Amino acid sequence: MAGTSFDIAVIGGGIAGLTAAHHAALAGASVVHFVEDGLPGGLVINVGALDGWPAAGPVGGAELAAGLMGQNEELGVTLVPSRIDRLEGGATRTLHGADGVWRARQVILATGATLKTLDVPGAERLAGRGVSQCAWCDGGLYRDADVVVAGGGDSALSEALHLGAFARTITIVTRGERFRARNHYVSRIASDERYHLRWASEIVEVSGADGVESVRVRDRESGTHEDIPCTGLFVFVGLTPNAGLAGPEIARDAGGFLVTDANFEAAAPGVFAIGAVRSGYGGRLTQAVGEATTAAEIAAARCES
Ligand SMILES: Cc1cc2nc3c(=O)[nH]c(=O)nc-3n(C[C@H](O)[C@H](O)[C@H](O)COP(=O)(O)OP(=O)(O)OC[C@H]3O[C@@H](n4cnc5c(N)ncnc54)[C@H](O)[C@@H]3O)c2cc1C
Repeated sequence: MAGTSFDIAVIGGGIAGLTAAHHAALAGASVVHFVEDGLPGGLVINVGALDGWPAAGPVGGAELAAGLMGQNEELGVTLVPSRIDRLEGGATRTLHGADGVWRARQVILATGATLKTLDVPGAERLAGRGVSQCAWCDGGLYRDADVVVAGGGDSALSEALHLGAFARTITIVTRGERFRARNHYVSRIASDERYHLRWASEIVEVSGADGVESVRVRDRESGTHEDIPCTGLFVFVGLTPNAGLAGPEIARDAGGFLVTDANFEAAAPGVFAIGAVRSGYGGRLTQAVGEATTAAEIAAARCES
């Protein structure tokens, strides 16, 4: 197949999509890979040192993604620096993007997810002026400052630990009564007195004139409010799936994540969903890589017949 028709189309340039394109090409399929703006990396693009990634030394997200994309080009993967807006059914799938239309026998959706923002007064107005979602990008601006992190999962705690390299105090505000994160993160935070923990609490307002000056926190049990002075607020309160391109025939769970079977195939035959866009995804890069490898090999085997 050539031109705009391929055995396999992989949509999404995060680590799941890069790995799927890699394994599909290794299996001998013709592969087209859609990487939005030609910039690979997805959620980890700004993470300077990945946790839990099996490598000889520290690896950053951008470095890992760029390396994989380079290998894929050597394997003959056709890179298209564009997003896909719509996927249509049939024995051969049609993919509609801003710059054209492509066809593929099998499609792997690896469109990932987007960090949720805080829907409270002041959060949007002060975005980029103290409200951030990237400690690796903005942490250096908060040397000796008091900062707040919203969230209680892996990404909140790993970013909070990175802020520990700069900030004077880091207050973590979480709706739960315990963290849902790697023990390694939890124990490091528990043993450092610069971290202040607000359990069963939520941020209800962000205040400041030209930059963040404080956040108002509500205790979910007592209903009382407290203003915490800070100049930075880092928000990691969950993910929204990037699933808008998939048609209604592809089942979603209550959160909008795509439902698949054990082989990562969605309700529409020939359409796979892997990584952060998938319902039940475990949240770790190593799991994204495993899902991508399985889906790519099954999809490629189907193209042999
Ligand atoms: C701050 C943070 C730090 C993390 N650190 C670690 C860590 O150290 N170790 C670890 O194991 N995990 C970490 N994770 C989790 C990890 O980032 C995710 O599990 C993983 O990146 C998911 O990869 P993905 O490829 O499925 O999705 P994503 O990374 O979300 O990539 C999806 C890509 O698809 C693109 N896309 C979306 N829609 C379209 C479309 N319509 N057309 C074309 N392209 C599209 C997006 O732009 C994006 O580039 C971290 C997560 C966060 C938020």
